[in-house]
Amino acid sequence: MRELDDIITAKNIDAAAGEAAATAAEGCPYCGGSGFVLQADGTAKRCVCYAEQRLLEAQRRAGLQPMLRRMTFASFELACYAPGLQAPGGRGQSYYELARAALEKTKSLCRAVCRGERPRGLLLFGQVGSGKTHLAAAAANALLGRGHDVCFLVVPDFLAALARRRTQGRSCCAGPNGPKCWCWTIWARII
Ligand SMILES: [Zn+2]
Repeated sequence: MRELDDIITAKNIDAAAGEAAATAAEGCPYCGGSGFVLQADGTAKRCVCYAEQRLLEAQRRAGLQPMLRRMTFASFELACYAPGLQAPGGRGQSYYELARAALEKTKSLCRAVCRGERPRGLLLFGQVGSGKTHLAAAAANALLGRGHDVCFLVVPDFLAALARRRTQGRSCCAGPNGPKCWCWTIWARII
């Protein structure tokens, strides 16, 4: 799995992210870039900028582009969805109801992960601009903020990586008995 991750992550690396993190620390009004602040009793504690830098680095490793790093559940604007307008194919539900359901399902998925469960996943689908990417990024950011590992992939990049692996005749975890990795299974289903 490591090699596939490397392939995909290398494409998404935001070279400026590391520099931005360092710059943020240097400009910190609380610690001046040291990462520690002195308390009244003379002991030192981590500055708030430390957690921010850690999150930024985790977002970069996860492959989240800068614009996606700002997306949260709180910034998902349900007010943008028409409550009185029925969505085509929405089984009688309005755009607002569908968006609210998607938001709650995505939050629920994150809560399950945070409880240590292994949910099967969540498939969000809809028109361009319906908020799928926002919810996916919000979930990624929420989980990263709680210390979980995340790999954020867009489908074309994911499929391209799988195709490269397939062309090379290797799987991510090929063993003596041949490939038996999940990416081959997915690939087979796609084909
Ligand atoms: Zn600081």
